[in-house]
Amino acid sequence: MSAGDCALLPVVGGDLTVPLIDGSQTRYINLDYAASSPALESVARHVTEVLPLYASVHRGAGYASQVSTAAYENARTVVGEFVGARQNDLVIFTRNTTDSLNLLAGVVPGETVVLDIEHHANLLPWTTDAGRVVVAGPTIEETVQRVDTELASRPAALLTVTGASNVTGERMPLRALATIAHRYGTRLAVDGAQLVPHRRINLMLEGVDYLAFSGHKTYAPFGAGVLVGRSDWLDRGEPYLKGGGAVTAVTTEASTWRTGPARHEAGSPNVIGVLALASALRSLSELDPVAWEGHESALRRRLSDGLSALPGVHVHRIFPDSTDAVGVVSFSIDGVDSRLLATVLSAERGIGVRDGKFCAHPLLERLGISGPALRASVGVGSTGDDVDALIDGVSQFIADGARGRYELIDGQWVAQDDHRPRPDWAPELDPEHAWYGCAA
Ligand code: PMP
Repeated sequence: MSAGDCALLPVVGGDLTVPLIDGSQTRYINLDYAASSPALESVARHVTEVLPLYASVHRGAGYASQVSTAAYENARTVVGEFVGARQNDLVIFTRNTTDSLNLLAGVVPGETVVLDIEHHANLLPWTTDAGRVVVAGPTIEETVQRVDTELASRPAALLTVTGASNVTGERMPLRALATIAHRYGTRLAVDGAQLVPHRRINLMLEGVDYLAFSGHKTYAPFGAGVLVGRSDWLDRGEPYLKGGGAVTAVTTEASTWRTGPARHEAGSPNVIGVLALASALRSLSELDPVAWEGHESALRRRLSDGLSALPGVHVHRIFPDSTDAVGVVSFSIDGVDSRLLATVLSAERGIGVRDGKFCAHPLLERLGISGPALRASVGVGSTGDDVDALIDGVSQFIADGARGRYELIDGQWVAQDDHRPRPDWAPELDPEHAWYGCAA
């Protein structure tokens, strides 16, 4: 048996069966980990274990409140240890990566430099008066050089880059960028949304000053995210949320804001989300990092090589000189509408992939992709069979087209004669509300 043949960790829904439009059932093939990964079974077990003891944190004398508070605060230690945070770094719990990066944007005491290849979450918070966009070069080497030139020409407080692209999976050279940034007194922030679920990162070793990531992409889909990083800007900056818990004293005229994570976490926090995330990180930390990387690299290679071998398929890359990428592969097919293919793969084969522009419109434009593309992504619960099923489905579609009938309604392909049952707690969706992410 070789790397990637079987799942590395069991996930909830790993044996899910779903209906197809021909009336049959099949195993669900989840190739959409990059959007939201399934929960680890260990995370689901932990949530079930802690729910009876769940109560308010930081504001209750009851036993359950005390246990919940201790667990919530201990989660900061678990996160800090997992990402190799420095002793004095803050671990602030948020909703997701978007929330974390917006929080950080509110405390940066100066200008921020960002690349044009980022997810909108690491672009829009910075494209203000205090943000400068550097166009990435044709190679990673040239991109690093351009960042160097930009920081040398004009001071910036922060450089922020993705750890791994949500479109191509390619990794950025964090250590090299940190060295350059620090040479000019600039700090480095990393959008870790696609990196933390796939690889170990060590802030101290790599010289990363801030890291943002999401629980729902890290096998803990209970609504918590994280910002980890140096405390001084965070302790001085405007509180991100204003309300209970963030202050030490309040009159109707003035308030005294706390320092530390509480300054930015006003209101009742998402305790279960945070405990789930800590549980996921504990499970991931038990993996042998080499086996983890080997599993995902093997699946990525199988995916990328299998798709590239099909006629008319283009697997997208930003940089010809990138040497490492996580398990995220985007592709387009000559003459094929990606939205139709995604709909067919689901309706006829039970395969879940992502189609659209992946909330990275400037990057897609740069890659010369005018319409939506397709993205397949894998993780610790994925197997070689999942990848092969996709390659087989795409191959058959290229050769024979769809088996069923599909109609384009308001920009969305809809399977005709679709009688797939749904659970009664998930009734038919008004198409108007179906797609407002980044599909366009
Ligand atoms: N950055 C990257 C690289 C992402 O892939 C995503 C999610 N697709 C985000 C940021 C935003 O993450 P979230 O939706 O969890 O805020």
